[in-house]
Amino acid sequence: MSSDQQEPVKTICPYCGVGCGIQVQPGEEPGDVQFMPWGDAPVNEGRICIKGGAATEVVDHEDRLTEPQIKEDGEFREASWEEAYEYIVDELERIRAEYGPDAMGFFGSSKVMNEENYLLQKLARRYGTNNVDNCTRMCHASTVWALRTSLGAGAMTNSMRDLREEADVFWIQGANPGEQHPIANSQYFRQAVLEGATVIQVDPHANKTTRSFQIDDTDRHQHLQLNPGTDIPLLNIVLKTILEHHEENPDDGWIDEEFIEERTEGFDHLKETLEDFDKEAAAEECGVPLEEIELAAEKYAMANNAAIFTGMGMSQHTCGVDNVQNEINLALITGNLGRPGTGVNPLRGQNNVQGTCDVGAMPNVLPGYQLVDDDEARESVEEVWGFEIPDEPGLTNVEISYEAGDSIKGLFVMGENPVMSEPDANAVAERLAELEFTVVQDIFHTETADYADVILPATTWAERGGTVTNTDRRVQRMRGVGKVHENTKHDREILTEIGTRLFGPGGFDFEDPEEIFEELRQVCPSYHGMTYDLLGEEGLHWPCYEPGDEGDPFLYEHEFDTESGRGHIEGVEHTPPAETPDDEYPLLLTTARLEEHYNTGTMSTRSPTLNKQTPENFVDVHPADAERYGIEDGEYVRLRSRRGEITLEAHVTDDTKEGVVWTTPHFAAASANKLTNHVLDERSKIPEYKAAAAEIDVE
Ligand code: SF4
Repeated sequence: MSSDQQEPVKTICPYCGVGCGIQVQPGEEPGDVQFMPWGDAPVNEGRICIKGGAATEVVDHEDRLTEPQIKEDGEFREASWEEAYEYIVDELERIRAEYGPDAMGFFGSSKVMNEENYLLQKLARRYGTNNVDNCTRMCHASTVWALRTSLGAGAMTNSMRDLREEADVFWIQGANPGEQHPIANSQYFRQAVLEGATVIQVDPHANKTTRSFQIDDTDRHQHLQLNPGTDIPLLNIVLKTILEHHEENPDDGWIDEEFIEERTEGFDHLKETLEDFDKEAAAEECGVPLEEIELAAEKYAMANNAAIFTGMGMSQHTCGVDNVQNEINLALITGNLGRPGTGVNPLRGQNNVQGTCDVGAMPNVLPGYQLVDDDEARESVEEVWGFEIPDEPGLTNVEISYEAGDSIKGLFVMGENPVMSEPDANAVAERLAELEFTVVQDIFHTETADYADVILPATTWAERGGTVTNTDRRVQRMRGVGKVHENTKHDREILTEIGTRLFGPGGFDFEDPEEIFEELRQVCPSYHGMTYDLLGEEGLHWPCYEPGDEGDPFLYEHEFDTESGRGHIEGVEHTPPAETPDDEYPLLLTTARLEEHYNTGTMSTRSPTLNKQTPENFVDVHPADAERYGIEDGEYVRLRSRRGEITLEAHVTDDTKEGVVWTTPHFAAASANKLTNHVLDERSKIPEYKAAAAEIDVE
């Protein structure tokens, strides 16, 4: 770090998808990097949660990777960059010559910026494969599928700001913003509720969101604590209640007939699906009294503007697409789309979770969600890139992991940690061990790096610049303070070098992130109107088609972005989780994240402040189950499923329902994904993290 870089830089928190602005203040010594608030940051106006405040703690952590490493005789040794690059290029060329380009898989990451994910997917496609994916597959692939198919874009329909100002009812299903999006929850949603809005929370677990809305004695907060995996029956009760009421009281306007007539298709299918639907039996299945669900339906239907928020409790199921489709059904029949304060709004988990998909780091789409098998779209990108793009969708990341050692021979991992993040993690590790060649590019030695042949030391979020796209489609600039360790490289520098060595000059030799962004905006129509200068400090919401456009804070004002221009309604029926409790595994295991930790824990478990809050994994056990098993609060238990076992502390609490055990994926020593089920939603290929059969043994 040079001495002229002593001014704080304005950047974006590296953790969740809210996209809070923070400042980073470099100190006298390299590595001395401190957090500073950014008082008028556009999203958070200076407020910050515990993770954002502690984010600089990992920048100069003693575990940082500082030199390239190559595995030799099962041991890693330091190597020069030249040696590492030569090895990588030789192996990539060998694999393509021996097995063809589809024998390689490329993993991007939502922890990494738009420019870098853009480069990675371009590299994969220049190599000749669409086997490129990123971690959003594991969080919202099903949400994106449903939203894209039925409305047009796989993203939040509205912005946090218009929701705070205009929504009367917040319907939060399978999302826990009190824990996962703390600033959005406190500054936007809770603020709206304090000013009179109503919140209906649908979640199997009582959590920080529940507690944050217990504001007064009014009925403005309602928690429907359903059984995991019963979201479709619950929403079908809501839909049928609204249909029945409208039948008898059409003047109450619970259904928006004009909106349905003019702007949607498929309403009859929904009515047919619900014709013989038994609300009493469904309420029994959900484990929630029918009258409570009917009351919630009334509140939603009577709102002037009702907004749905959806999270991984909805998406991470084998019926994830159907779960979200039913939310879309609810919004469409009540006319709650296309204006401020409404919509279907996925809350995204990582700081660039939206952008990673926007820039095409997915096996079926190019930048801007242009389908790889759409000839016209592909050709328009080929014209800019100057090479032919494969026209068949590639494999998703979970499919790549499960093909490892079979059709997949090599893997290039940028900032991802599949050995922790994918379900049935023991099996993932075994498969990765079968690969002929693996590159891991990261800031720490992850659990996945154990299986690498080459490890490349990358810089952290605070050291480099680029752009990220937050949960409400706002593209913002990140700015860096320079390298802390001299021999590390920015992700984009590594990809630029490998791309140029593999394919010669012209396609990858970018000087800086802005130059990459300039190419990105040429091939990504919804980013076309953005430049680094125009993004400034406020950022811009996409779509932003031409320079000077202000970007759209809410979508679909006049028509949906589907082929017919109409919003697609489609009735859906209940699909139970693929694995349900039985005699051998009588408990239902579900998983979720904590405010003070982050995904696979690579960064957050190295932060002293965050670890002080929660240093290790635990499992929530209902008091009735604890009594049955003889478990004391704080006792260590063995939690197991058909795929593995972990040992962790039991928390006896009625936050969870009887028969349901709840744990987190953050800690390598007791990784929940050793237990989760490798079974996928057929269309979106998202795994069912939210339901698996389990058993507890008292140690
Ligand atoms: Fe960072 Fe999210 Fe916390 Fe904001 S709410 S400080 S973006 S982790």
